[in-house]
Amino acid sequence: MSTQVARTIAAVREAHDSTRTWGGVVGLVPTMGYLHAGHASLVAAARAECDHVTASVFVNPLQFGQADDLATYPRDLERDLGVAEEAGADLVFAPAVEEMYPAGRPFTTVSVAELTAGWEGAVRPGHFDGVATVVAKLFAIAGPSRAYFGEKDYQQLQVVRRMAVDLDLPVDVVACPTVREGDGLALSSRNVHLGPEERRAATVLRRALDAGIAAAAAGERDPAAVDAAMARLVTGEPLAQLDYAAIVRPDTLESPDRIEPGEYRLLIAARVGKPRLIDNAGVLVG
Ligand code: AMP
Repeated sequence: MSTQVARTIAAVREAHDSTRTWGGVVGLVPTMGYLHAGHASLVAAARAECDHVTASVFVNPLQFGQADDLATYPRDLERDLGVAEEAGADLVFAPAVEEMYPAGRPFTTVSVAELTAGWEGAVRPGHFDGVATVVAKLFAIAGPSRAYFGEKDYQQLQVVRRMAVDLDLPVDVVACPTVREGDGLALSSRNVHLGPEERRAATVLRRALDAGIAAAAAGERDPAAVDAAMARLVTGEPLAQLDYAAIVRPDTLESPDRIEPGEYRLLIAARVGKPRLIDNAGVLVG
């Protein structure tokens, strides 16, 4: 069966109601389009676990700041439909901005304040309120039992998880591992803006994460030393400009005073040429 396209909230509700009436499980994969193998892995994970899979393709203006790249964000719905279909989506929900925000900026927004003051939230004020608000709307529109998010955007994943818990939203938030190029660069729609030299330099994010993992695994107890081990690699790359590199608690995203045995997350962000890239990795300290 070929993937259908829904442009309206009513059309999505109708499709999902018909699945739910016989007890079928609806899976939702929210995206901003320009789909790549990372997005496809989310759709494939949903396909394996759900009776009906909808991928949403919506470049959400609410999560872009003034200085952000809303106008230049890459878009190609025809291509997206092909990727979504191949990965097993039943439906692509591609609403116009007016369908999602008929009254312009909504009066009601969702803010997961404790998780969004730092890291990406510090660089992009209001970004996560925009994300949480549109995801809450998509959950209300689609009524999925399961929703799939990439670990690639780790802070976003934690924001969505926490929102679902705090607001008792009846959705299982499923985390999917980051899909990477052969040289370690995390797939991202923004990678198309990298020139050839920048593309080569962009592998420094993954290499820096590996340096952080090695430092933590070797028994380093001082978080600042782990952060510095990551930062050193990025500052050694002339085309990259470090934004932050930090070892944090995986749930609260706080910097620990001291690294004790347990799970941590390494977060990194850097500009490579024009594009600003983010990446992260888990580390288990024994
Ligand atoms: P975006 O279209 O960038 O908003 O991303 C939509 C979803 O795809 C988010 O849950 C992202 O975390 C996820 N995603 C983006 N890139 C990757 C990747 N390289 N691997 C796995 N998931 C990804």
